[in-house]
Amino acid sequence: MSSEIRVPDIGDFDSVEVIEVLVEVGDVVEVETSLIVLESDKATMDVPAPLAGTLTELLISVGDKVAPGDLIARIDTGTQAAEPASADEAAKPAVQAAPAVPPEASAPVDEVAYDVLVMGGGPGGYTAAFRAADLGLKTVLVERYDTLGGVCLNVGCIPSKALLHTAHVIDEAAAMEQHGVSFGSPQINLEKLRGFKQSVVKQLTGGLVQLAKQRKVDVVHGTARFAGPNSVQVDGPGGARQLQFRHAIIAVGSQSVRLPGMPWDDERLIDSTGALELKDMPGRMLVIGGGIIGLEMANVYAVLGSSVDVVELTPGLVPGCDPDLVKPLSKRMAKRLDNIWLGTKVTQVEAAGEGLRVHFSGDQAPEPQIYGRVLVAVGRKPNGHTIDAQTAGVQVDDRGFIPVDRQMRTNVPHIFAIGDVAGQPMLAHKATHEGKTAAEVIAGHKAEFDPSCIPSVVYTDPEVAWVGLTETQAKEQGIAYDKGQFPWAANGRSLGMGNQDGLTKILFDAQTGRCIGAGAVGPNAGELMAELGLAIEMGADAEDIGLTIHAHPTLSETVGMAAEAAAGTLTDLYMPKKR
Ligand code: NAD
Repeated sequence: MSSEIRVPDIGDFDSVEVIEVLVEVGDVVEVETSLIVLESDKATMDVPAPLAGTLTELLISVGDKVAPGDLIARIDTGTQAAEPASADEAAKPAVQAAPAVPPEASAPVDEVAYDVLVMGGGPGGYTAAFRAADLGLKTVLVERYDTLGGVCLNVGCIPSKALLHTAHVIDEAAAMEQHGVSFGSPQINLEKLRGFKQSVVKQLTGGLVQLAKQRKVDVVHGTARFAGPNSVQVDGPGGARQLQFRHAIIAVGSQSVRLPGMPWDDERLIDSTGALELKDMPGRMLVIGGGIIGLEMANVYAVLGSSVDVVELTPGLVPGCDPDLVKPLSKRMAKRLDNIWLGTKVTQVEAAGEGLRVHFSGDQAPEPQIYGRVLVAVGRKPNGHTIDAQTAGVQVDDRGFIPVDRQMRTNVPHIFAIGDVAGQPMLAHKATHEGKTAAEVIAGHKAEFDPSCIPSVVYTDPEVAWVGLTETQAKEQGIAYDKGQFPWAANGRSLGMGNQDGLTKILFDAQTGRCIGAGAVGPNAGELMAELGLAIEMGADAEDIGLTIHAHPTLSETVGMAAEAAAGTLTDLYMPKKR
């Protein structure tokens, strides 16, 4: 059967230009395959195929101006689809045409076809859903757990920061002894501490429910997996149901890597979620992995009273961060922890009556040790293989990542992926921005996820933070740079806080003079990345930053003075002239 494909209703435009033709006569297209790209002065927009079949005629070319209702192509649909009566009908959700894969007979199919279905209610997912709703799209957010917020709000960034703050105050109180003020040793009521942590989580996750309601975003609880290119099956508390969508955003995140061959049914072996439960304080604890999660949790448990060891596979803590920034942290952790074994591998963990017996290998490897708790924090893996993505034709790589373009589009044009499942770095603030991009692209905006930099912060004590190019990367990539740096031992605010250690450094491109990277270590170092990230995005040079007046006395002066050091105008240190 031959059908016509016409330009759908494209908003307030009489005529817009065809800037790309993505198909040829003879192509076999699926429902929602993008046919052409239109561009107005406000937005670009893909026109998807409303029907599946073989294109028999193409009636437009690049440069043509088209209006709603204009004929784009003719398509031979075989016998599978009815011909839409009008351009309006052609613009209706593609789910109203025959889906390429029939829905499962068992699950009831919802009548509503959503403009956007977001799979996963973490920071990326709820941000995408809220932005989509704000842009006028009918949106549903599917989340497998009872609360929104994902790992970050429920069992990640937020509860860990509540505990790290507590640990920080305990540390600070102890340090007051050197200032002539003694508090005695802390009395820790674990139940109350857990309650505080949960109250913070509850406040935030409860706020999300309100925000969803205010925007009329439908929230469906249950585990979603694709049932076809335009439908997902949700298995929830009330049974299974099918939701139909015109566009989907996959935001299903990641999970902790579980090292194989370990006794995972033993509750003394935990991942970050288990560590944040704070069930009790183990006498001796081993943290496997000296990365971000490992060190944050080691910090918490050590300050709360456990004897903590850390074992790290690579030669240094926080791989990926410049060694000069890690150094003050390593020094502090060496005092706080019992042992840090670098370049060391855990070869076996055995469940024994008295604890978990851990075997090590490597030059620094100790004898087997017994621990009351072992935390495995060796990274996270994406959840791409958990959602039957192949049913919708979405490609997932071997590791579970879903490849996307700069508009967060997967290989299937109407399905997008964001956050941890869409690639490194697995950071909430990357996911939220990607979520907004995906929603805006679906709404027809000219949006791309194209950041110059994404900040990283390790919320230990001291904090370690960096943004843009690291010095190690600059060297590896042969990028010529100038560096300005300022030690916190020369910053009055830092000294007043009793902190001698710390460093802020900024890298500038040797040719253009533009800021290309920065890092800092010290209390609240993460906060300094805001200015430095903006400097990178705006292409600021050393003078731009150095001539910006930073309030005195603040830690942010270390940013201004690191820039002055690069510009050669610094007076707070004696710097012999370079030439
Ligand atoms: P990570 O990649 O930061 O650290 C894992 C560490 O484990 C690395 O140092 C690695 O060398 C080490 N390791 C790997 N296998 C090992 C083994 N067999 N024995 C000993 N060490 C081993 O991963 P993570 O700390 O688990 O964090 C996971 C993700 O979550 C990261 O992508 C991180 O960005 C994100 N996250 C971010 C924050 C934050 O922004 N503050 C906090 C928590 C988690």
